[in-house]
Amino acid sequence: MSDLLDRIRGALVGLKMPRALEALDHTLQQLEKGEITAIEAIDTLLSEEYPTRETRRIDVALRTAKLLPAKTLESFDFSFQPSLDRERIAALAQLDFIRRAEVGHFLGPPGTGKSHLATALGVAAVKAGKSVYRATLADLIDALSQAEREGRLVEKIRFYTRASLLIVDEIGYLPITTGGANLVFQLVNARYEKGAMILTSNRGFAEWGEVFGDPVVATALLDRLLHHAVVIQIEGASYRLRSHADLIPEHVRANAPITPPLPPKRRGRPPKTNNGASDH
Ligand code: ADP
Ligand code: MG
Repeated sequence: MSDLLDRIRGALVGLKMPRALEALDHTLQQLEKGEITAIEAIDTLLSEEYPTRETRRIDVALRTAKLLPAKTLESFDFSFQPSLDRERIAALAQLDFIRRAEVGHFLGPPGTGKSHLATALGVAAVKAGKSVYRATLADLIDALSQAEREGRLVEKIRFYTRASLLIVDEIGYLPITTGGANLVFQLVNARYEKGAMILTSNRGFAEWGEVFGDPVVATALLDRLLHHAVVIQIEGASYRLRSHADLIPEHVRANAPITPPLPPKRRGRPPKTNNGASDH
């Protein structure tokens, strides 16, 4: 008996199950007194350990995946975004698209919850044990360019193809050089039909030629990114601006700033300096 107990203790130490080890004696006493059944004893020991370990695993995976601050589907207010089909998001949250190596696109103006939904799906995937990585397109291109300069491009692309879900956020905000577009193409090509992606963009596909600075590369990219794809278009108001809607001019609200606003034009002559005259 004591040999057996020593072996169990040794195994719990080896398996790094300190909480179960700590609970062992008490659980055995309860078992001997007939207060719990054998199956309950096993359950007690495992549930001392598992939730803590699972929480830790998820914390580490979320950090590694760059999914912090984490978002959830439960915290998404669907009533704020009536154009969005809740059922389609729920279907994505089943995560079969990851197994099928499909591409999910979230399109819409700024503040409509594209990044929130992409992150929430990433978090759900991490909880389900999938490997996930998230980056903005700008960061991705920076990392790929740097790797290329250092002769490590193949490794870097391999790194980005390893995750079963790659989230590429913020396509369309920043201009991309031809070199950058080519690197993105290499990455997309490497993942094509092998790994799932979620992309978010404030620009329609028709504008990708402009976004990637090259219509040929954009066409080749879209060819792969739309082959097995789910496209979710969000048409609505910015959640960020919801409490300031009255401060934003109607034409901006209706047609959220897809291109940055031009700097205000100065009318008339530039103000003279040192003449004491006011501009009013
Ligand atoms: P986008 O990526 O479309 O520009 P985000 O997903 O970053 O917008 O949303 C901006 C902020 O508003 C985030 O903090 C996000 O969590 C929050 N948010 C956006 N839409 C909703 C919503 N419908 N319900 C709850 N929070 C939302
Ligand atoms: Mg965003």
